[in-house]
Amino acid sequence: MEHTVGSIAVMTSGGDAPGMNPAVRSVVRSSLDLGIETYAIYEGYHGMVEGGDYIRSMSWEDVGGILHQGGTVIGTARSDEFRTREGRRKAALNLVLREIDSLIVIGGDGSLTGADLFRKEWPGLLDELVERGDIEPDRAERRSNLRVVGLVGSIDNDMFGTDMTIGADTALHRITEAIDSITSTAASHQRAFIIEVMGRNCGYLALMASISSGADWVLIPESPPDIENWEQRMCEVLNKGREVGRRHSIVVVAEGACDRDGNPIETDYVKTVLKERLGADTRVTILGHVQRGGAPSAYDRLLGSLLGHAAVQAITKGEADEEPQLLGIRQNRVQRSSLLENVEATHSVADFIAEKNYEKAMELRGGSFKDAFRTLRTLIRAKPHEPDPERTRRRIAILHAGPPAPGMNTAVRAATRLAIDQGHEVLGVHNGFPGLLEGSVTELGWMSVSGFASRGGAELGTNRNVPSREQLPALAERISELGIEGLLMIGGWAGYEAAYRIHEERHTLPALDIPVICVPATINNNLPGSELAVGADTALNNIMDAVDKIKQSAVASRRVFVVEVMGRHCGYLALMSGIAGGAERVYLHEEGISLRELQADVQFLVDGFESGKRLGLMIRNEAANRFYTTDFMRSLFEEESEGLFDARQAILGHLQNGGDPSPFDRIQATRLASRGLAYTLEQIESEGGESAFMGLVEGAIRFNPIEQFPKMIDGDLQRPLEQWWLQLREIARLLGQPAPRHELE
Ligand code: ADP
Repeated sequence: MEHTVGSIAVMTSGGDAPGMNPAVRSVVRSSLDLGIETYAIYEGYHGMVEGGDYIRSMSWEDVGGILHQGGTVIGTARSDEFRTREGRRKAALNLVLREIDSLIVIGGDGSLTGADLFRKEWPGLLDELVERGDIEPDRAERRSNLRVVGLVGSIDNDMFGTDMTIGADTALHRITEAIDSITSTAASHQRAFIIEVMGRNCGYLALMASISSGADWVLIPESPPDIENWEQRMCEVLNKGREVGRRHSIVVVAEGACDRDGNPIETDYVKTVLKERLGADTRVTILGHVQRGGAPSAYDRLLGSLLGHAAVQAITKGEADEEPQLLGIRQNRVQRSSLLENVEATHSVADFIAEKNYEKAMELRGGSFKDAFRTLRTLIRAKPHEPDPERTRRRIAILHAGPPAPGMNTAVRAATRLAIDQGHEVLGVHNGFPGLLEGSVTELGWMSVSGFASRGGAELGTNRNVPSREQLPALAERISELGIEGLLMIGGWAGYEAAYRIHEERHTLPALDIPVICVPATINNNLPGSELAVGADTALNNIMDAVDKIKQSAVASRRVFVVEVMGRHCGYLALMSGIAGGAERVYLHEEGISLRELQADVQFLVDGFESGKRLGLMIRNEAANRFYTTDFMRSLFEEESEGLFDARQAILGHLQNGGDPSPFDRIQATRLASRGLAYTLEQIESEGGESAFMGLVEGAIRFNPIEQFPKMIDGDLQRPLEQWWLQLREIARLLGQPAPRHELE
């Protein structure tokens, strides 16, 4: 017999995580949009067992104003009662009485294990309820199948089935901010700091925080120090660091760190070691709950929004009819897989660690985790390895082009150290291609990039200038004079154009026949062959901070804000900040703006404010329309509101590409620079080495030969022909719209 979907309930359970609120909001709105009655279960399984006011029917507005709040507004609690069959029977009764037969659980692996069990028992629980006379048989028949969809809300990033859990990125923000702050005080006093971060079975936070903050040593559960006397080795590295001029030592320890024999490594033990063997003034900071707190990062707001929407889709499309599903983000796309299998795989990592099978544990963590660990082990060295006499010493130049993007310095640091460690020479070019023309170049040493990991801006300097054809002979001369064998360009559009031009002239000017490898770095995220350029995440977070403040400033009035964001002709920042910031409307150049649409927008604002709305947020890409400018739109809204609300504009400008890079941009910069460098060296060493541009595409790093550049772009508008994120427009529209009609009726 065919059953229609009953009501949908959403709950948050287990440890709270920033980003849960955006997920709840998205579930509720996506579900109401389809005309489905939607409940929130307050206080996790406890509320489900208790019923009553713990299970509340939600309206569109009930989930307004929660996007930027940390934690979970619907609460979470542990429930021992739910672990008993009787407790679960009570819970089943509470759901079935409300015709709820679809459950979206946002929690950690404990909560999801509980959900899986609940679903297995569901038919039996309903039978018992019928037998006891608690419900009528036809109700049980109607709701005989419980659909379960799990979203992982956990700061640890410790679950299978998703590359990122909801909350992990925000936790990395908190940790990185803390380590950045500690680093400055540590340097002032030449101190050693030991920082403990969360992660009982998962070293994700510790490892990524170490990469993004330039820590000197890291201890994680999956990969205990692989030598007998690791304490000695750690002290040697820290000591050498001091000799070469590092003023501080930072050791990051995951909560669950242990040695090869499975004995926990406590922060106090590390402190004693450093004190006794190095005589270092050592302090311990245990970050604790700070890591869970604060406003969700832009990424977690997006992730929660996308996953919440997809969860409702999975239910209504019947994808969870047969088996509970887990929705996660993999290869930068929302993906669905078996909840149970993922829970089991997650437990197996913990089992392997408990069995001291660390190789297997590392293997299960996946390729990029392992790569990150390997890269980190080079970056944290105090000095490079001795050069291998068998290997030819190469000379590589690094330069930027385009506007500054946060993360450029991080990329320079990674590429420089990795190259030097392999025995190569690295030249740093100042101020982009014009700098190269002038020969404004210095050799970069190991310590010259110290502190670069966390620093915003571009220490080498950057420039939008693309060398003209007339300048190419001089450029060729410079390149051969300096003996440059390969160029690593970390930057944006101008750099790609320059690389292409150089490539075109390589036959007439043989000195230009060197590989130029482009690493995407621009906040505009408008480069071909790359889904996420270095810098864009920081810009999004900068926009989020600004939008949060702008919204707060309007508490006392009825106001519409028109916020203009960067991106040139690429709407990435506008759309993503629209979703993450809860904008009513996003204006993109890709879609254009028509007067008719503006009229409709005025109407929905008027309707909204008439029915109690107090705040409107419209986000506009800077080049969305030449004539309907931000100022024009603001005036239009205000004039047409006839006093119902006032309108203000905020052109965010350069605060978007300022500031220190976000953890994601630092990690991304390190990963791309490391692969970009390896590719440059490969090209130098192979016959007919090629120039290329690189990027993350569906989660993997890909290289495209530079000849592809003109074929993959709209040159006039300076953006790629294919823009993956345009498919998210529907979600932006859905979540930002006023309450849909059928809900109002
Ligand atoms: P997390 O979801 O963050 O891993 P917990 O492990 O504390 O957090 O689980 C949260 C709640 O989920 C528990 O308090 C309990 O109610 C429920 N739960 C966890 N594991 C099970 C299980 N095996 N069977 C039934 N319920 C469970």
